[in-house]
Amino acid sequence: MKIVPISLPTPFYIGPVNVYLIPEDPVTLIDTGPKTKEALDTLRAALRNEGLSVADIRRIVLTHAHEDHCGLARALRDEAKDAEVLVHGWETGHRAGRLEYDETRQLLVRAGVPPDEVEVMRKMYEGVRQYADSLDDGQCSELTDEAEIEFDSGALQVVHTPGHTPGSCSFIRHADRTLIAGDCVLKRITPNPILSPDPIDRSRRFRSLEEYLVSLARVRALAPTLVLGGHGDAVHDYEELFHRYLRAIRDRQSQIIRLVPTNGASAWEVSRAMFPDTDDVHRFLGVSEAVAHLDYAHSEGKLALEINDGREVYRKVS
Ligand SMILES: [Zn+2]
Ligand SMILES: [Zn+2]
Repeated sequence: MKIVPISLPTPFYIGPVNVYLIPEDPVTLIDTGPKTKEALDTLRAALRNEGLSVADIRRIVLTHAHEDHCGLARALRDEAKDAEVLVHGWETGHRAGRLEYDETRQLLVRAGVPPDEVEVMRKMYEGVRQYADSLDDGQCSELTDEAEIEFDSGALQVVHTPGHTPGSCSFIRHADRTLIAGDCVLKRITPNPILSPDPIDRSRRFRSLEEYLVSLARVRALAPTLVLGGHGDAVHDYEELFHRYLRAIRDRQSQIIRLVPTNGASAWEVSRAMFPDTDDVHRFLGVSEAVAHLDYAHSEGKLALEINDGREVYRKVS
């Protein structure tokens, strides 16, 4: 079973996205790239190289529903005459657009983001949204943990690896322990846990960093020999990367705890202290990262949390 990596251009800061083609029955594409003419043209050329066209695609499997990964899913599904689209059930909230949801707006307000900044983030997201068509529930099937995705000459097994988003999934070929990991494992950067409502109780926040640490350990237990990520080069030494991630997370934890002043601070205030120079586009990612780390420090008993006027304030434990 051949796995063909295809790099597609994106208009985003992160640069190109990797999608993966399995050019055998049933022809399957893992992730699609954003909805741009450049990405679609590049994808068509890559399919042609394998003697295929979009019409041959029978299955579209999504690692997660961010625009750079899922943007073309709807258009490809339509052109390939109802190819099956598979995505984890916990990813539903992301399919139609993060910041449209009142829940996310409420999470931002609770994290101390001022109303005018919430509005800036909403507008920014409107700009990003144009790079993906949303899929209705009836147009997707659910990926479930440990399910087998079968091919003529092999199979991939679904590994639910929440953290970057609640429904992020990876796919392992056990024969040679190759793992397709989406944005769960990236060679050069520590993936950002994105602020999301909890898929079980949408009035709460998803505990992204705790979940992510469990996912990283779970991937480690699979002892992958090759990890194919959503951006950048493949990872040949996951063990080394795993320890590098843990060190980066530990360093960030200490930094964040230091940044909480004696009289307390909101996640927004901590994110501004941590990334003072970020522009509008990256403030959402900054507050996401701050919340993830503050929640984790709180759950470890290193910070106290209280609600003040509808805003959450973290304090040092005395
Ligand atoms: Zn992503
Ligand atoms: Zn990505």
